[in-house]
Amino acid sequence: MKRSQQALAVGAAAGALAFLAAKRRGISLRKWLRVQADIAQIIVRNTSKDGNWRWSRLRELLFLASLERARRLEVAEADVVAPNDPDAVYRLHPLTHVRTQRQLSATSSKAMMALRMEADSKPVVTDLVLVGGGHAHVHVLRMLGMCPMPGVRITLITRDVETPYSGMLPGHVAGVYSRREAHIDLNKLARVARARLIAGEVTHIDSDAQLLHLKDGRPPLPYDVLSVNVGIAPSKPAAYVTPVKPIATFSVKWDALLSRLDDASSFRLVVVGGGAGGVELILAMVARVSHELTQRGRSTTCLSATLVARSSELLQGHAVGVRRLLTEAVRRKGIRVLLSHEAIETSTDNGEKILKCRHEGRMVQVPFDECAWCTQAAAPEFLSRSGLDVDDRGFLRTNLRLQCLQNNTPTRVYAAGDCSTVDGHPRPKAGVFAVMAGMALYHSASRGAAAPSRHRRASCPSDEF
Ligand SMILES: Cc1cc2nc3c(=O)[nH]c(=O)nc-3n(C[C@H](O)[C@H](O)[C@H](O)COP(=O)(O)OP(=O)(O)OC[C@H]3O[C@@H](n4cnc5c(N)ncnc54)[C@H](O)[C@@H]3O)c2cc1C
Repeated sequence: MKRSQQALAVGAAAGALAFLAAKRRGISLRKWLRVQADIAQIIVRNTSKDGNWRWSRLRELLFLASLERARRLEVAEADVVAPNDPDAVYRLHPLTHVRTQRQLSATSSKAMMALRMEADSKPVVTDLVLVGGGHAHVHVLRMLGMCPMPGVRITLITRDVETPYSGMLPGHVAGVYSRREAHIDLNKLARVARARLIAGEVTHIDSDAQLLHLKDGRPPLPYDVLSVNVGIAPSKPAAYVTPVKPIATFSVKWDALLSRLDDASSFRLVVVGGGAGGVELILAMVARVSHELTQRGRSTTCLSATLVARSSELLQGHAVGVRRLLTEAVRRKGIRVLLSHEAIETSTDNGEKILKCRHEGRMVQVPFDECAWCTQAAAPEFLSRSGLDVDDRGFLRTNLRLQCLQNNTPTRVYAAGDCSTVDGHPRPKAGVFAVMAGMALYHSASRGAAAPSRHRRASCPSDEF
């Protein structure tokens, strides 16, 4: 056969396979090819961006590309079944888009059962304790559930048993997602991982004695391997002001405010913090209150909203386009923006709550009914008392294996998310980095628990949102 005939035959076979694949999914061949081309483009773009390629990174990229490809095909399928319904994909493919690598490569449920039985039959020799139910630990628990570790007892200590998924917080405030939708039930996840769950707050890590001290006089808990993912503490809690986190406290105040919509004459909302969280939050609050007022047939003129920022512009550090778009959105909603205003303290005057801000050397008073605090993160203070190395802001220092250091020496304590900083790779405090650290934390902490000397994988934190 001539070369041109061979090429034609291969082309025809590939075309036929593509046609069959598209038909099987019920989407057009054109759409199917478009998705494949887009994914190929993503792979090429990302591989050419970084000259320093390693096999493990390429594997990771191919895996992520396969997830993205699956998601795009699922969306295309859903478009055929229910055009114009953006939610159809979630009904047709519940959660398949969040499969993890381990789950995909797991041979069968029989193999998983065998693993579990093996894990159950071994005596406990190592206590792995997870402190905090943050975004990274959610992933660690999920992985431990899928891949149980013989001889390792897992304990999760968390202040909130329902942990909010940060990307959905503003949507929850706006009334788009219910509380259940925007929160992850750690109780269920702990059961999957067969972890003991302690609903409590750690107040002290004694890294020398390998003991955790808890609030409310509970007995201290020993650990062999520790993983910390406790997020941040509100940087400046003040009276009458509600820090956005823990969201449970914020939710209670927010619900109370919404319940007054029928009788109160005015709603003065104030958000302190001109970063992405603050801007998103005030837009969500205004959207919700406006919607509720309209539903009740009331005018929205009784609503006033103020965003207080210490910086001279909103969303400092973000791309120019993002800043412009969001600043414009805030302006369109009629939100008053006080730039270069540093919130100092709160007080009451004749029962009216007032936020005092410093602006160009003088004090400005901002009266409010509800004030949410959404400013720069501060490290939980118990971290700096732990004996572990912390950075200049009090966040735990880790190496690339997410191991905390003690006098610059790696320990069997691991950390990820907002509460830590990887040496030499500082990142903004954002949920997306905590999520992405989840897999690396799982690998490191589980290796540390299985065999402390077997640390092979170092993981450089992602630098993209
Ligand atoms: C309104 C708003 C919107 C946001 N939107 C986004 C967004 O769209 N994208 C994004 O990337 N980031 C967003 N963020 C930032 C994001 O919320 C945080 O960066 C992220 O939650 C950090 O995750 P984490 O895993 O480190 O900790 P967290 O998610 O804060 O979890 C910490 C966990 O530890 C527990 N805990 C805390 N202290 C203790 C203790 N002493 N003992 C035991 N348990 C403890 C808590 O109960 C909680 O379960 C937003 C923040 C806000 C306020």
